[in-house]
Amino acid sequence: MGLLLKGGRVVDPVAQTIQKLDVLIDHTVIIEMAPEIAHQGHTVYDVSHQFVMPGLIDVHVHLREPGQTHKETIETGTMAAAAGGFSQVCAMPNTTPVVDSPAWVRHIIDEAAKYGYAKVHPIAAITKSSKGQELTEFEALSEAGAVGFSDDGKGVQSAEMMRNALLAAKALSKPVIVHAEDETLSGSGVINFGDVAKTLSVPGILPDAETAMIARDIVLAQAVGAHVHFCHVSPADAVGLIKEAKSKGAHVTAEVTPHHLLLTDHEVLLQGSTAKVNPPLRSETDRRACVNGLLDGTLDMIATDHAPHSTEEKSRDLLHAPFGFVGIETSFALMYTAFVHSHILSLPELVALMSYRPAKAFHLDGGRLAVGQPADIAVVDPISEKVVDPDRFYSKGKVTPFKGRVLRGWPVLTIFAGNVVYNNR
Ligand SMILES: [Zn+2]
Repeated sequence: MGLLLKGGRVVDPVAQTIQKLDVLIDHTVIIEMAPEIAHQGHTVYDVSHQFVMPGLIDVHVHLREPGQTHKETIETGTMAAAAGGFSQVCAMPNTTPVVDSPAWVRHIIDEAAKYGYAKVHPIAAITKSSKGQELTEFEALSEAGAVGFSDDGKGVQSAEMMRNALLAAKALSKPVIVHAEDETLSGSGVINFGDVAKTLSVPGILPDAETAMIARDIVLAQAVGAHVHFCHVSPADAVGLIKEAKSKGAHVTAEVTPHHLLLTDHEVLLQGSTAKVNPPLRSETDRRACVNGLLDGTLDMIATDHAPHSTEEKSRDLLHAPFGFVGIETSFALMYTAFVHSHILSLPELVALMSYRPAKAFHLDGGRLAVGQPADIAVVDPISEKVVDPDRFYSKGKVTPFKGRVLRGWPVLTIFAGNVVYNNR
């Protein structure tokens, strides 16, 4: 039988090419890619005028399970991933309870496999209950399937604890994934420290709260020779430090979110708690530094920090609403519209930032299309424009500062392990 994608333009993020090729899938694997494949009883999808790319990879999502299933579940989160063109996501461990045991790591992998919309790679906690007091069992967590270690949601406050984490992760060749936030500097801040916080009379979060911890962890990672990965980088000075560390040969990787590339704290004036996120939306100078960091390779990849909350929770005032909003269903179209359609990035470059490069940094399979590779494929329509409508999200989280934006480059067909898991053609 098999499944044949006919007439599409195949994006290769490694060779940085776009080629008109048919793609034939048998069961879970790509078995042929050629300019013209005759169909012999295959299920055919005509994807002419559409882009065929590797299933996207997001190294930073919150699936909220276990324990916060009113915000999201592994089922809804992976359906949302499929709708966003993603085949693999890394799930952050700040759930209830925190993913700090091998049993929870296995549970998340099994649960995602049961639904089959996307592969979920758990990230395990650095410290027990992410309390910063006691290191988790890195080796057992790694054996259970954790792809890295993070106390995301907060920073590891103790330098000694971070150093021990880097040593333990190095022995397993896995990254320590850093949410950089020195709590003595971020304090009770709710948005970026600056004019907007002043205007609104709310406490601000200094960019230095993030930059200082990034500086510390670069020093520690370099001394230990470990791989440190920085989450959702937002201040200009942090981009500079990462650039410098890389030039010295440190094993540093970093991600940036679409919202830090596209929005500033000015958005809080317009949208209030909807735009409350941690790290906060920063200044225009910071935003531009993030864009430049993405373009010059300092920032290695796009990650969404998909952080679903209930609409009720996000409707609270700035001081009381939780940090974060959803992103996985809109990220590709946002990036396509803002960067590819406006000729800042080429399409193969964007696809690399959202598939091949995260795969490489986190030692994941996939991230490119080739014969013999898993049939994890996203098909994107570059032409049709569509409004961001949260009511149509698969995610339980409906709050996004990008609501109402008109975007193009929407995923229209997602194939995971050879199965069509999203079809909106
Ligand atoms: Zn974080």
